[in-house]
Amino acid sequence: MGADSHTKTITCSKTAELIDATMTPQNKGQSSSSATTTTSSTGILPSLTELREELVSNDSTLDAQQFQKQFLSNCNGIAHETEVDKKMRQIGSHTPILPSEIGTDFNFQRGIVWKNVIGFAALHVCGVIGLHLAFWQYCDWRTTLYSIWLMYMSGQGVTMGAHRLWAHKAFKAKLWLRVVLLWLHTLAGQNCLYVWVRDHRQHHKYSDTDADPHNANRGFFFSHIGWLLSRKHPKVIEYGKKIDMSDLEADPWIMFQKRHYKLLYTIFALFGPTSIPVLFWGESPLYALFVAFFFRTILSLNGTWSVNSAAHMFGTRPYDKTIWPVENMFVSFVAMGEGWHNYHHAFPWDYRASEYGTPLNLTGVLIDFLAKHGHIWDRKTATSNMVKTRLLRTGDKSHHTYGTDEGRKAFKTLWNIWRHPTNPTYTSIYTPKPKIIQSEGYALVEDELKKSEMDDDILKREADELLRRQKEEESQKTEANKIYTKLSQYIKEQQQELPEDLAQQVNNNQAANGKAKLNIDGNQNVIQRKVSVQ
Ligand SMILES: [Zn+2]
Ligand SMILES: [Zn+2]
Repeated sequence: MGADSHTKTITCSKTAELIDATMTPQNKGQSSSSATTTTSSTGILPSLTELREELVSNDSTLDAQQFQKQFLSNCNGIAHETEVDKKMRQIGSHTPILPSEIGTDFNFQRGIVWKNVIGFAALHVCGVIGLHLAFWQYCDWRTTLYSIWLMYMSGQGVTMGAHRLWAHKAFKAKLWLRVVLLWLHTLAGQNCLYVWVRDHRQHHKYSDTDADPHNANRGFFFSHIGWLLSRKHPKVIEYGKKIDMSDLEADPWIMFQKRHYKLLYTIFALFGPTSIPVLFWGESPLYALFVAFFFRTILSLNGTWSVNSAAHMFGTRPYDKTIWPVENMFVSFVAMGEGWHNYHHAFPWDYRASEYGTPLNLTGVLIDFLAKHGHIWDRKTATSNMVKTRLLRTGDKSHHTYGTDEGRKAFKTLWNIWRHPTNPTYTSIYTPKPKIIQSEGYALVEDELKKSEMDDDILKREADELLRRQKEEESQKTEANKIYTKLSQYIKEQQQELPEDLAQQVNNNQAANGKAKLNIDGNQNVIQRKVSVQ
Protein backbone atom coordinates (compact mmCIF):
# COMPACT_ATOMS: atom_id res chain seq x y z
CA MET A 1 0.00 0.00 0.00
CA GLY A 2 1.05 3.57 -0.57
CA ALA A 3 1.93 4.31 3.01
CA ASP A 4 4.34 1.41 3.27
CA SER A 5 7.08 3.09 1.32
CA HIS A 6 7.68 6.65 2.21
CA THR A 7 10.39 8.91 3.40
CA LYS A 8 10.30 10.53 6.78
CA THR A 9 12.21 13.43 8.17
CA ILE A 10 13.54 13.23 11.69
CA THR A 11 14.07 16.71 13.04
CA CYS A 12 16.12 15.63 16.02
CA SER A 13 16.20 13.24 18.92
CA LYS A 14 15.63 14.00 22.56
CA THR A 15 18.44 12.20 24.24
CA ALA A 16 21.72 13.58 25.44
CA GLU A 17 23.42 10.65 23.78
CA LEU A 18 22.36 11.95 20.45
CA ILE A 19 23.88 15.35 21.12
CA ASP A 20 27.07 13.57 22.06
CA ALA A 21 26.95 11.83 18.75
CA THR A 22 26.80 15.13 16.94
CA MET A 23 29.65 16.55 19.02
CA THR A 24 32.16 13.86 18.10
CA PRO A 25 35.48 15.21 16.74
CA GLN A 26 34.59 14.54 13.13
CA ASN A 27 31.44 16.64 13.51
CA LYS A 28 33.02 19.58 15.32
CA GLY A 29 33.91 22.44 13.10
CA GLN A 30 31.65 21.27 10.28
CA SER A 31 29.08 23.76 9.13
CA SER A 32 25.84 23.34 7.29
CA SER A 33 22.46 25.01 7.30
CA SER A 34 20.68 21.71 7.65
CA ALA A 35 19.93 20.41 11.12
CA THR A 36 17.93 17.49 9.90
CA THR A 37 18.58 14.02 8.70
CA THR A 38 16.44 11.87 6.53
CA THR A 39 15.97 8.17 6.72
CA SER A 40 13.86 5.67 4.86
CA SER A 41 11.22 4.18 7.02
CA THR A 42 8.62 1.46 6.97
CA GLY A 43 6.47 3.41 9.34
CA ILE A 44 8.77 2.77 12.32
CA LEU A 45 11.39 5.18 13.58
CA PRO A 46 14.99 3.94 13.55
CA SER A 47 16.61 2.84 16.79
CA LEU A 48 18.77 5.25 18.74
CA THR A 49 21.95 3.48 17.67
CA GLU A 50 20.94 3.56 14.00
CA LEU A 51 20.09 7.22 14.27
CA ARG A 52 23.34 8.06 16.01
CA GLU A 53 25.32 6.15 13.39
CA GLU A 54 23.49 7.90 10.66
CA LEU A 55 24.09 11.30 12.20
CA VAL A 56 27.77 10.66 12.75
CA SER A 57 28.32 9.33 9.26
CA ASN A 58 26.35 12.21 7.83
CA ASP A 59 28.77 14.84 9.19
CA SER A 60 28.96 16.82 5.97
CA THR A 61 25.34 17.93 6.29
CA LEU A 62 25.18 18.27 10.01
CA ASP A 63 25.91 21.31 12.10
CA ALA A 64 26.30 20.21 15.68
CA GLN A 65 25.51 23.58 17.23
CA GLN A 66 22.38 24.10 15.17
CA PHE A 67 21.31 20.59 15.87
CA GLN A 68 21.75 21.13 19.61
CA LYS A 69 19.82 24.40 19.46
CA GLN A 70 16.89 22.81 17.66
CA PHE A 71 17.08 19.82 19.92
CA LEU A 72 16.75 21.98 23.03
CA SER A 73 13.84 23.96 21.62
CA ASN A 74 12.02 20.73 20.78
CA CYS A 75 12.75 19.30 24.18
CA ASN A 76 11.04 22.24 25.85
CA GLY A 77 7.86 21.00 24.24
CA ILE A 78 8.13 17.60 25.85
CA ALA A 79 6.14 18.02 29.01
CA HIS A 80 6.19 14.41 30.16
CA GLU A 81 9.21 13.02 28.41
CA THR A 82 10.05 10.53 31.15
CA GLU A 83 6.51 9.27 31.20
CA VAL A 84 6.55 8.72 27.44
CA ASP A 85 9.85 6.89 27.74
CA LYS A 86 8.41 4.73 30.49
CA LYS A 87 5.42 3.82 28.35
CA MET A 88 7.60 3.15 25.35
CA ARG A 89 9.67 0.75 27.44
CA GLN A 90 6.53 -0.87 28.74
CA ILE A 91 5.33 -1.61 25.22
CA GLY A 92 8.76 -2.78 24.15
CA SER A 93 10.02 0.12 22.08
CA HIS A 94 13.49 1.63 22.23
CA THR A 95 12.61 4.16 19.59
CA PRO A 96 13.41 7.82 20.22
CA ILE A 97 10.35 9.96 19.71
CA LEU A 98 9.35 13.59 19.60
CA PRO A 99 5.96 15.18 20.36
CA SER A 100 5.40 15.92 16.68
CA GLU A 101 6.12 12.31 15.82
CA ILE A 102 4.31 10.53 18.62
CA GLY A 103 1.73 8.21 17.15
CA THR A 104 0.17 7.76 20.57
CA ASP A 105 0.69 10.27 23.34
CA PHE A 106 0.12 8.17 26.44
CA ASN A 107 0.07 11.21 28.70
CA PHE A 108 -2.93 12.77 27.04
CA GLN A 109 -5.70 13.25 29.59
CA ARG A 110 -9.13 12.70 28.11
CA GLY A 111 -12.19 14.60 29.27
CA ILE A 112 -14.96 12.20 30.25
CA VAL A 113 -18.39 12.78 28.69
CA TRP A 114 -20.57 11.89 31.67
CA LYS A 115 -23.78 12.06 29.65
CA ASN A 116 -22.48 9.19 27.49
CA VAL A 117 -21.16 7.27 30.51
CA ILE A 118 -24.57 7.37 32.20
CA GLY A 119 -26.39 6.62 28.91
CA PHE A 120 -24.27 3.58 28.02
CA ALA A 121 -24.30 2.31 31.63
CA ALA A 122 -28.12 2.50 31.69
CA LEU A 123 -28.31 0.81 28.28
CA HIS A 124 -26.13 -2.05 29.53
CA VAL A 125 -28.15 -2.47 32.73
CA CYS A 126 -31.37 -2.67 30.69
CA GLY A 127 -29.63 -5.02 28.23
CA VAL A 128 -28.65 -7.37 31.07
CA ILE A 129 -32.26 -7.31 32.35
CA GLY A 130 -33.33 -8.22 28.77
CA LEU A 131 -30.80 -11.05 28.73
CA HIS A 132 -32.18 -12.30 32.04
CA LEU A 133 -35.77 -12.23 30.69
CA ALA A 134 -34.73 -14.11 27.55
CA PHE A 135 -32.44 -16.63 29.25
CA TRP A 136 -34.91 -17.63 32.00
CA GLN A 137 -37.76 -17.61 29.47
CA TYR A 138 -39.89 -14.94 31.12
CA CYS A 139 -40.70 -13.79 27.62
CA ASP A 140 -42.10 -15.84 24.74
CA TRP A 141 -39.41 -17.99 23.04
CA ARG A 142 -40.41 -16.37 19.75
CA THR A 143 -39.39 -12.95 21.14
CA THR A 144 -35.90 -14.29 21.91
CA LEU A 145 -35.47 -15.92 18.51
CA TYR A 146 -36.87 -12.86 16.76
CA SER A 147 -34.45 -10.56 18.66
CA ILE A 148 -31.41 -12.66 17.71
CA TRP A 149 -32.57 -12.81 14.09
CA LEU A 150 -33.10 -9.03 14.11
CA MET A 151 -29.61 -8.55 15.56
CA TYR A 152 -28.08 -10.51 12.69
CA MET A 153 -30.19 -8.66 10.09
CA SER A 154 -29.32 -5.24 11.48
CA GLY A 155 -25.71 -6.44 11.67
CA GLN A 156 -25.74 -6.82 7.89
CA GLY A 157 -26.64 -3.13 7.65
CA VAL A 158 -23.35 -2.50 9.45
CA THR A 159 -21.04 -5.15 7.97
CA MET A 160 -22.32 -5.43 4.40
CA GLY A 161 -23.68 -1.88 4.14
CA ALA A 162 -21.78 0.68 6.20
CA HIS A 163 -18.52 -1.24 6.25
CA ARG A 164 -17.89 -3.08 2.99
CA LEU A 165 -20.21 -1.21 0.60
CA TRP A 166 -19.90 2.40 1.76
CA ALA A 167 -16.70 2.74 3.79
CA HIS A 168 -14.52 0.65 1.45
CA LYS A 169 -16.48 0.71 -1.84
CA ALA A 170 -15.72 -3.03 -2.11
CA PHE A 171 -18.66 -3.72 -4.47
CA LYS A 172 -21.63 -2.07 -6.15
CA ALA A 173 -25.27 -2.78 -5.31
CA LYS A 174 -28.72 -2.09 -6.74
CA LEU A 175 -30.74 0.77 -5.27
CA TRP A 176 -33.27 -1.48 -3.50
CA LEU A 177 -30.45 -3.27 -1.68
CA ARG A 178 -28.76 0.00 -0.71
CA VAL A 179 -32.03 1.29 0.75
CA VAL A 180 -32.61 -1.97 2.67
CA LEU A 181 -29.03 -1.87 4.02
CA LEU A 182 -29.53 1.75 5.08
CA TRP A 183 -32.73 0.76 6.92
CA LEU A 184 -30.95 -2.16 8.60
CA HIS A 185 -28.12 0.14 9.60
CA THR A 186 -30.63 2.52 11.22
CA LEU A 187 -32.02 -0.49 13.10
CA ALA A 188 -28.59 -1.33 14.54
CA GLY A 189 -28.35 2.01 16.36
CA GLN A 190 -24.69 2.75 15.67
CA ASN A 191 -25.06 6.44 14.84
CA CYS A 192 -25.92 7.68 11.33
CA LEU A 193 -24.18 6.04 8.38
CA TYR A 194 -22.27 9.20 7.45
CA VAL A 195 -20.57 9.43 10.87
CA TRP A 196 -20.01 5.65 11.00
CA VAL A 197 -18.23 5.67 7.62
CA ARG A 198 -16.16 8.77 8.43
CA ASP A 199 -14.95 7.27 11.71
CA HIS A 200 -14.18 3.97 10.05
CA ARG A 201 -12.28 5.48 7.12
CA GLN A 202 -10.29 7.48 9.64
CA HIS A 203 -9.64 4.34 11.68
CA HIS A 204 -8.07 2.69 8.62
CA LYS A 205 -6.19 5.73 7.33
CA TYR A 206 -4.49 6.54 10.63
CA SER A 207 -4.73 3.15 12.29
CA ASP A 208 -3.25 2.69 15.79
CA THR A 209 -2.30 6.35 16.28
CA ASP A 210 -3.92 9.31 18.03
CA ALA A 211 -5.69 10.21 14.78
CA ASP A 212 -7.53 6.86 14.96
CA PRO A 213 -10.84 7.40 16.85
CA HIS A 214 -10.46 4.05 18.68
CA ASN A 215 -6.68 3.74 18.84
CA ALA A 216 -5.96 0.18 20.05
CA ASN A 217 -2.67 1.32 21.63
CA ARG A 218 -4.77 2.75 24.45
CA GLY A 219 -5.95 -0.66 25.54
CA PHE A 220 -8.96 -2.93 25.34
CA PHE A 221 -11.47 -0.77 27.21
CA PHE A 222 -10.69 2.39 25.28
CA SER A 223 -10.88 0.75 21.84
CA HIS A 224 -14.03 -1.15 22.83
CA ILE A 225 -16.24 1.54 24.37
CA GLY A 226 -13.98 4.09 26.12
CA TRP A 227 -13.61 6.17 22.96
CA LEU A 228 -17.38 6.80 23.04
CA LEU A 229 -17.27 7.91 26.66
CA SER A 230 -14.58 10.57 26.30
CA ARG A 231 -13.84 13.68 24.30
CA LYS A 232 -12.05 13.20 21.00
CA HIS A 233 -8.29 13.57 20.86
CA PRO A 234 -7.39 16.81 18.96
CA LYS A 235 -5.67 14.67 16.31
CA VAL A 236 -8.95 12.84 15.62
CA ILE A 237 -10.63 16.18 14.94
CA GLU A 238 -7.69 17.49 12.89
CA TYR A 239 -7.28 14.40 10.70
CA GLY A 240 -11.02 13.74 10.49
CA LYS A 241 -11.28 16.81 8.28
CA LYS A 242 -8.98 15.16 5.75
CA ILE A 243 -11.33 12.24 5.12
CA ASP A 244 -12.98 12.43 1.71
CA MET A 245 -16.73 11.97 2.16
CA SER A 246 -17.87 13.42 -1.18
CA ASP A 247 -19.31 10.09 -2.39
CA LEU A 248 -21.64 9.88 0.60
CA GLU A 249 -22.50 13.57 0.43
CA ALA A 250 -23.70 13.00 -3.13
CA ASP A 251 -26.11 10.26 -2.03
CA PRO A 252 -29.54 11.75 -1.13
CA TRP A 253 -30.62 8.62 0.81
CA ILE A 254 -27.59 8.76 3.10
CA MET A 255 -27.91 12.48 3.66
CA PHE A 256 -31.62 12.03 4.43
CA GLN A 257 -30.74 9.47 7.11
CA LYS A 258 -28.11 11.86 8.49
CA ARG A 259 -30.55 14.77 8.70
CA HIS A 260 -33.39 12.81 10.32
CA TYR A 261 -31.40 10.17 12.18
CA LYS A 262 -32.98 10.63 15.63
CA LEU A 263 -36.52 10.40 14.25
CA LEU A 264 -35.68 7.44 12.00
CA TYR A 265 -33.93 5.67 14.87
CA THR A 266 -36.93 6.13 17.16
CA ILE A 267 -39.29 4.70 14.52
CA PHE A 268 -37.17 1.90 13.03
CA ALA A 269 -34.96 0.81 15.94
CA LEU A 270 -37.24 1.40 18.94
CA PHE A 271 -40.96 1.33 18.10
CA GLY A 272 -40.87 -0.90 14.99
CA PRO A 273 -38.96 -3.87 16.46
CA THR A 274 -40.73 -3.77 19.86
CA SER A 275 -44.25 -3.57 18.43
CA ILE A 276 -43.95 -6.72 16.28
CA PRO A 277 -43.83 -9.27 19.19
CA VAL A 278 -46.75 -7.42 20.85
CA LEU A 279 -48.88 -7.39 17.71
CA PHE A 280 -48.08 -10.86 16.32
CA TRP A 281 -47.79 -13.16 19.34
CA GLY A 282 -49.15 -11.04 22.18
CA GLU A 283 -45.87 -10.39 24.00
CA SER A 284 -45.90 -8.07 26.99
CA PRO A 285 -44.81 -4.57 25.77
CA LEU A 286 -42.29 -4.33 28.61
CA TYR A 287 -40.68 -7.69 27.79
CA ALA A 288 -40.63 -6.77 24.10
CA LEU A 289 -38.86 -3.50 24.96
CA PHE A 290 -36.22 -5.14 27.14
CA VAL A 291 -35.51 -8.09 24.86
CA ALA A 292 -36.13 -6.83 21.29
CA PHE A 293 -34.63 -3.41 21.94
CA PHE A 294 -32.23 -3.25 24.91
CA PHE A 295 -30.87 -6.80 24.80
CA ARG A 296 -30.59 -6.80 20.99
CA THR A 297 -28.91 -3.36 20.90
CA ILE A 298 -26.34 -4.27 23.55
CA LEU A 299 -25.50 -7.55 21.85
CA SER A 300 -25.15 -5.84 18.47
CA LEU A 301 -23.05 -2.95 19.81
CA ASN A 302 -20.65 -5.21 21.69
CA GLY A 303 -20.29 -7.46 18.64
CA THR A 304 -19.23 -4.47 16.53
CA TRP A 305 -17.01 -3.03 19.26
CA SER A 306 -15.18 -6.35 19.62
CA VAL A 307 -13.82 -5.77 16.10
CA ASN A 308 -12.20 -2.56 17.34
CA SER A 309 -10.88 -4.13 20.55
CA ALA A 310 -10.39 -7.93 20.47
CA ALA A 311 -9.67 -8.05 16.72
CA HIS A 312 -6.87 -5.53 17.29
CA MET A 313 -5.26 -7.49 20.11
CA PHE A 314 -5.88 -11.20 20.33
CA GLY A 315 -4.86 -13.29 17.33
CA THR A 316 -2.23 -13.77 14.66
CA ARG A 317 -0.85 -11.33 12.06
CA PRO A 318 -0.16 -13.49 8.98
CA TYR A 319 -0.35 -10.57 6.52
CA ASP A 320 1.22 -7.68 8.40
CA LYS A 321 2.96 -7.96 11.76
CA THR A 322 3.65 -4.20 11.91
CA ILE A 323 -0.01 -3.34 12.54
CA TRP A 324 -2.22 -4.11 15.56
CA PRO A 325 -5.20 -5.77 13.78
CA VAL A 326 -5.25 -9.58 14.03
CA GLU A 327 -7.03 -12.64 12.68
CA ASN A 328 -9.56 -13.60 15.36
CA MET A 329 -11.90 -16.50 14.72
CA PHE A 330 -14.08 -15.76 17.74
CA VAL A 331 -14.75 -12.17 16.60
CA SER A 332 -15.53 -13.46 13.13
CA PHE A 333 -18.25 -15.60 14.62
CA VAL A 334 -19.86 -12.78 16.64
CA ALA A 335 -19.33 -10.08 14.01
CA MET A 336 -20.35 -12.11 10.96
CA GLY A 337 -16.96 -12.34 9.29
CA GLU A 338 -15.30 -9.12 10.46
CA GLY A 339 -12.73 -10.83 12.66
CA TRP A 340 -10.23 -11.58 9.87
CA HIS A 341 -9.00 -8.14 10.65
CA ASN A 342 -5.28 -8.37 9.87
CA TYR A 343 -6.19 -9.27 6.28
CA HIS A 344 -8.86 -6.57 6.22
CA HIS A 345 -6.43 -3.82 7.25
CA ALA A 346 -3.90 -5.10 4.70
CA PHE A 347 -6.51 -5.15 1.90
CA PRO A 348 -9.45 -2.98 3.05
CA TRP A 349 -11.13 -2.90 -0.36
CA ASP A 350 -11.52 -6.70 -0.55
CA TYR A 351 -15.28 -7.39 -0.28
CA ARG A 352 -14.66 -10.64 1.64
CA ALA A 353 -12.66 -8.84 4.37
CA SER A 354 -10.77 -12.11 4.53
CA GLU A 355 -8.55 -14.19 2.28
CA TYR A 356 -11.39 -16.67 1.85
CA GLY A 357 -15.18 -16.56 1.89
CA THR A 358 -15.17 -19.04 4.76
CA PRO A 359 -18.27 -20.28 6.62
CA LEU A 360 -17.15 -17.95 9.42
CA ASN A 361 -17.74 -15.03 7.09
CA LEU A 362 -21.51 -14.78 6.87
CA THR A 363 -21.35 -11.35 5.22
CA GLY A 364 -19.00 -12.61 2.50
CA VAL A 365 -21.27 -15.59 1.82
CA LEU A 366 -24.34 -13.32 1.58
CA ILE A 367 -22.57 -10.91 -0.80
CA ASP A 368 -21.67 -13.87 -3.05
CA PHE A 369 -25.27 -15.09 -2.95
CA LEU A 370 -26.67 -11.67 -3.92
CA ALA A 371 -24.02 -11.29 -6.65
CA LYS A 372 -25.03 -14.67 -8.10
CA HIS A 373 -28.55 -13.32 -8.54
CA GLY A 374 -27.39 -10.04 -10.08
CA HIS A 375 -28.09 -7.64 -7.20
CA ILE A 376 -24.40 -7.01 -6.51
CA TRP A 377 -21.58 -6.62 -9.00
CA ASP A 378 -18.01 -5.34 -9.38
CA ARG A 379 -16.76 -7.17 -6.27
CA LYS A 380 -13.17 -6.18 -5.55
CA THR A 381 -10.61 -8.63 -4.24
CA ALA A 382 -6.87 -8.63 -3.69
CA THR A 383 -5.13 -10.93 -6.20
CA SER A 384 -3.40 -14.06 -4.93
CA ASN A 385 0.02 -12.61 -5.82
CA MET A 386 -0.81 -9.40 -3.98
CA VAL A 387 -1.67 -11.42 -0.88
CA LYS A 388 1.31 -13.75 -1.23
CA THR A 389 3.80 -10.88 -1.63
CA ARG A 390 2.38 -8.99 1.30
CA LEU A 391 2.37 -11.91 3.71
CA LEU A 392 5.88 -13.01 2.74
CA ARG A 393 7.14 -9.44 3.09
CA THR A 394 5.42 -8.30 6.28
CA GLY A 395 3.60 -11.29 7.82
CA ASP A 396 4.39 -12.94 11.14
CA LYS A 397 4.88 -16.28 9.32
CA SER A 398 1.79 -17.83 10.88
CA HIS A 399 0.03 -18.20 7.50
CA HIS A 400 -1.29 -21.73 6.95
CA THR A 401 0.37 -22.14 3.52
CA TYR A 402 3.28 -19.73 3.32
CA GLY A 403 4.15 -19.50 7.01
CA THR A 404 6.76 -21.48 8.90
CA ASP A 405 6.44 -23.96 11.77
CA GLU A 406 8.13 -21.47 14.04
CA GLY A 407 5.69 -18.70 13.06
CA ARG A 408 2.65 -20.92 13.49
CA LYS A 409 3.69 -21.85 17.02
CA ALA A 410 4.43 -18.27 18.10
CA PHE A 411 1.28 -17.52 20.06
CA LYS A 412 0.01 -17.65 23.63
CA THR A 413 -3.31 -17.62 25.44
CA LEU A 414 -4.49 -16.18 28.73
CA TRP A 415 -3.03 -18.34 31.52
CA ASN A 416 -1.71 -20.49 28.67
CA ILE A 417 -4.84 -22.61 28.47
CA TRP A 418 -6.88 -23.83 25.50
CA ARG A 419 -4.36 -22.96 22.82
CA HIS A 420 -6.77 -22.76 19.92
CA PRO A 421 -7.78 -19.94 17.51
CA THR A 422 -11.36 -19.98 18.80
CA ASN A 423 -10.07 -18.88 22.20
CA PRO A 424 -10.72 -15.10 22.31
CA THR A 425 -7.36 -14.59 24.05
CA TYR A 426 -5.33 -16.55 21.49
CA THR A 427 -2.62 -14.06 20.56
CA SER A 428 0.71 -13.71 18.78
CA ILE A 429 3.80 -13.42 20.96
CA TYR A 430 4.97 -10.51 18.79
CA THR A 431 3.77 -6.98 19.53
CA PRO A 432 3.88 -4.34 16.80
CA LYS A 433 6.08 -1.33 17.46
CA PRO A 434 4.28 1.99 17.91
CA LYS A 435 3.90 3.95 14.72
CA ILE A 436 3.71 7.63 13.89
CA ILE A 437 0.88 9.48 12.20
CA GLN A 438 1.32 9.61 8.43
CA SER A 439 -0.42 12.52 6.76
CA GLU A 440 -1.25 10.46 3.66
CA GLY A 441 -2.48 7.49 5.72
CA TYR A 442 -3.02 3.93 4.54
CA ALA A 443 -4.88 3.13 1.32
CA LEU A 444 -8.62 2.68 1.87
CA VAL A 445 -9.88 1.77 -1.57
CA GLU A 446 -8.32 0.04 -4.56
CA ASP A 447 -8.04 3.33 -6.50
CA GLU A 448 -5.41 4.58 -4.04
CA LEU A 449 -2.94 1.84 -4.99
CA LYS A 450 0.09 2.53 -7.17
CA LYS A 451 0.33 0.69 -10.49
CA SER A 452 3.35 -1.29 -9.29
CA GLU A 453 1.34 -2.48 -6.31
CA MET A 454 -1.21 -4.02 -8.67
CA ASP A 455 1.02 -5.32 -11.48
CA ASP A 456 0.67 -9.07 -11.33
CA ASP A 457 3.99 -9.84 -13.06
CA ILE A 458 5.99 -7.65 -10.67
CA LEU A 459 4.12 -9.10 -7.70
CA LYS A 460 4.66 -12.67 -8.87
CA ARG A 461 8.41 -12.14 -9.31
CA GLU A 462 8.65 -10.54 -5.88
CA ALA A 463 6.61 -13.32 -4.27
CA ASP A 464 8.78 -16.04 -5.86
CA GLU A 465 11.95 -14.34 -4.67
CA LEU A 466 10.61 -13.86 -1.14
CA LEU A 467 9.49 -17.48 -1.00
CA ARG A 468 12.88 -18.67 -2.23
CA ARG A 469 14.63 -16.63 0.48
CA GLN A 470 12.26 -17.90 3.16
CA LYS A 471 12.90 -21.52 2.13
CA GLU A 472 16.65 -20.88 2.16
CA GLU A 473 16.45 -19.46 5.67
CA GLU A 474 14.31 -22.40 6.73
CA SER A 475 16.76 -24.98 5.39
CA GLN A 476 19.63 -23.16 7.12
CA LYS A 477 17.68 -23.29 10.37
CA THR A 478 16.92 -26.97 9.85
CA GLU A 479 20.62 -27.68 9.33
CA ALA A 480 21.51 -25.70 12.43
CA ASN A 481 18.86 -27.58 14.40
CA LYS A 482 20.23 -30.94 13.21
CA ILE A 483 23.72 -29.98 14.36
CA TYR A 484 22.34 -28.71 17.66
CA THR A 485 20.42 -31.96 18.24
CA LYS A 486 23.49 -34.06 17.46
CA LEU A 487 25.63 -31.92 19.73
CA SER A 488 23.11 -32.12 22.56
CA GLN A 489 22.96 -35.88 22.18
CA TYR A 490 26.73 -36.08 22.20
CA ILE A 491 27.00 -33.92 25.31
CA LYS A 492 24.33 -36.01 27.04
CA GLU A 493 26.26 -39.20 26.32
CA GLN A 494 29.52 -37.68 27.46
CA GLN A 495 27.89 -36.24 30.54
CA GLN A 496 26.93 -39.71 31.72
CA GLU A 497 30.62 -40.57 31.83
CA LEU A 498 31.66 -37.28 33.44
CA PRO A 499 32.96 -37.19 37.01
CA GLU A 500 30.17 -36.38 39.43
CA ASP A 501 31.27 -32.80 40.16
CA LEU A 502 31.43 -31.85 36.45
CA ALA A 503 28.06 -33.45 35.72
CA GLN A 504 26.62 -31.45 38.62
CA GLN A 505 28.11 -28.28 37.17
CA VAL A 506 26.45 -28.93 33.80
CA ASN A 507 23.13 -29.56 35.50
CA ASN A 508 23.47 -26.32 37.45
CA ASN A 509 24.14 -24.47 34.24
CA GLN A 510 21.05 -26.01 32.72
CA ALA A 511 18.91 -24.95 35.65
CA ALA A 512 20.37 -21.46 35.88
CA ASN A 513 20.87 -20.44 32.31
CA GLY A 514 18.64 -22.53 30.08
CA LYS A 515 19.33 -24.71 27.12
CA ALA A 516 21.63 -22.42 25.13
CA LYS A 517 24.01 -21.93 28.06
CA LEU A 518 24.07 -25.64 28.75
CA ASN A 519 25.09 -26.23 25.20
CA ILE A 520 28.07 -23.93 25.45
CA ASP A 521 29.19 -24.91 28.95
CA GLY A 522 28.48 -28.56 28.39
CA ASN A 523 30.61 -28.41 25.30
CA GLN A 524 33.44 -26.84 27.27
CA ASN A 525 33.20 -29.56 29.88
CA VAL A 526 33.39 -32.20 27.20
CA ILE A 527 36.44 -30.54 25.75
CA GLN A 528 38.02 -30.24 29.20
CA ARG A 529 37.36 -33.88 29.85
CA LYS A 530 38.87 -34.89 26.52
CA VAL A 531 41.96 -32.90 27.31
CA SER A 532 42.30 -34.47 30.74
CA VAL A 533 41.83 -37.97 29.28
CA GLN A 534 44.57 -37.30 26.74
ZN1 LIG B 1 -9.61 -2.13 12.58
ZN1 LIG C 1 -12.75 -1.59 7.43
